[in-house]
Amino acid sequence: MASDSNSGLVFQLPLISLPIVGSALRFPVRRVHCVGRNYLEHIREFGNDERDPPFFFAKHRDCIVQNGTEIPYPSLTQNYQHEIELVVAMKSGGMNIKKEDALGHIYGYGVGLDMTRRDLQMASRKKEQPWEVGKSFDESAPCSAITPAEKSGHLSKGKIQLTVNGKLRQEGDLTQLIWNVPEIIATLSLQIGLEAGDLIFTGTPAGVVACGKGDKLVGSVEGLSDLTVTIV
Ligand code: MN
Repeated sequence: MASDSNSGLVFQLPLISLPIVGSALRFPVRRVHCVGRNYLEHIREFGNDERDPPFFFAKHRDCIVQNGTEIPYPSLTQNYQHEIELVVAMKSGGMNIKKEDALGHIYGYGVGLDMTRRDLQMASRKKEQPWEVGKSFDESAPCSAITPAEKSGHLSKGKIQLTVNGKLRQEGDLTQLIWNVPEIIATLSLQIGLEAGDLIFTGTPAGVVACGKGDKLVGSVEGLSDLTVTIV
């Protein structure tokens, strides 16, 4: 377990946090969870089984990238893809959270990019190895400022989209989520304990394609603050 004191350490680690819309306070990030497949059109573009339940993977918390920054094109990949996603930010948690209690654990919402080295993800999948090399790498989790749920309300509908250099690349609506946010929280909390500071990337709609150096990515979810990053 983490100590509640930062004294007595041989060195300090930086805290990872995100700005909060309308507040000088910041949201501290504990863990970054991601849902594997959660929009039908995205499942179809990869020819995956539409009836499979979604599954979860994780990114390290220091994969978080702040809004408005530049991210270097990552190593080892020829197919670096964007996945625009609604992000859920937790203010509390636990195990075996009931669907009907799930919304009460949410602090707010953000806009995230699950950046993916698709070639490496596919290669590890073929070899039945973990996805980590394709999913959890440096700067792979850009995330916007968090909008408190008391301001945005709980989100179950609304446009989600991504433009690259001003051109629309991904477009969907939160009503297309196969598993909605309460169902995601309930299911994830069966396998691990959720806690305050956890982020959940909820899956991406169709339209994922490769991006390259110089591309400016602008992601949005209706009612939330935008996310902009540039690949360099
Ligand atoms: Mn994703």
